[in-house]
Amino acid sequence: MFDLSGKTAFVTGASRGIGRAIAMALAERGAEVGIGYARRKEAAEAVQREIRARGGCAEIVEVDVSVQASIEQAIEGWVRAKGKLDIFVSNAGIAIDQVLLRLRPEDLHRTWAVNVEGAIWGAKAAIRSMLRQRYGRVIFITSVVGETGNAGQAAYASSKAALIGLTKTLAREYASRGITVNAVAPGFIETEMTASLPDELRKRMIEQTPLGRIGKPEEVAPAVVYLASDEAAFVTGQVLRVNGGLLM
Ligand code: NAP
Repeated sequence: MFDLSGKTAFVTGASRGIGRAIAMALAERGAEVGIGYARRKEAAEAVQREIRARGGCAEIVEVDVSVQASIEQAIEGWVRAKGKLDIFVSNAGIAIDQVLLRLRPEDLHRTWAVNVEGAIWGAKAAIRSMLRQRYGRVIFITSVVGETGNAGQAAYASSKAALIGLTKTLAREYASRGITVNAVAPGFIETEMTASLPDELRKRMIEQTPLGRIGKPEEVAPAVVYLASDEAAFVTGQVLRVNGGLLM
């Protein structure tokens, strides 16, 4: 089950956190993985080394998803080099948190440029190549707050809600071409993104999570592996929640 050998996958934001765990898990199942990174080249190289040490195939690719030409070139370059792209995971994301009345235009634009525009242009380039083979798996990493909202996260939560609309739209547009489009919505996961949150907020999030703890990136990755697999062929337009019960 969930054998990905012979497939190629591209994961944005795979230098650390959830994207790193996704890249490792896809490679573990046999996919050849493109490790997208923006700035942390050494971290991306470390992921590549770890995958290769376990017998997997991976290459690092520098890409700033907030620049349309950059994400398009990264994916087109991957397809040229590998011959095809079967799995695209749009994971790169940032959170600039501020209540609405303190929200600055540049922070809103930056958040949407990375989280939404990066996902849209990435998916466009990926789907263009998937259409040729009439097969593909597109997976967006949204967030529990895209469904629930969260005080202090107007820019971030709205960007993650946008990804849910995008998932359902693309699922409808490309279902007839053998391409499924789904999203994974993590709850509170231990990464650099959440590391700096105040203790009080962490405590509150844990209290609101029925499983009573913060999740690990390695607990999100299997949901992506499933959606990327042939076994998930009848699943499209869905949001798979991995959140310890925070939202049911
Ligand atoms: P993280 O540890 O902060 O890692 C962010 C990743 O995104 C890094 O690999 C970073 O690359 C990359 N990135 C940032 N800006 C980029 C850009 N402009 N172009 C390309 N790559 C860029 O974050 P995370 O917690 O793993 O989050 C991964 C995804 O899960 C995000 O979409 C996030 O919104 C979502 N999520 C996280 C949580 C959570 O609790 N952690 C919950 C729900 C959803 P560099 O290392 O090269 O800078």
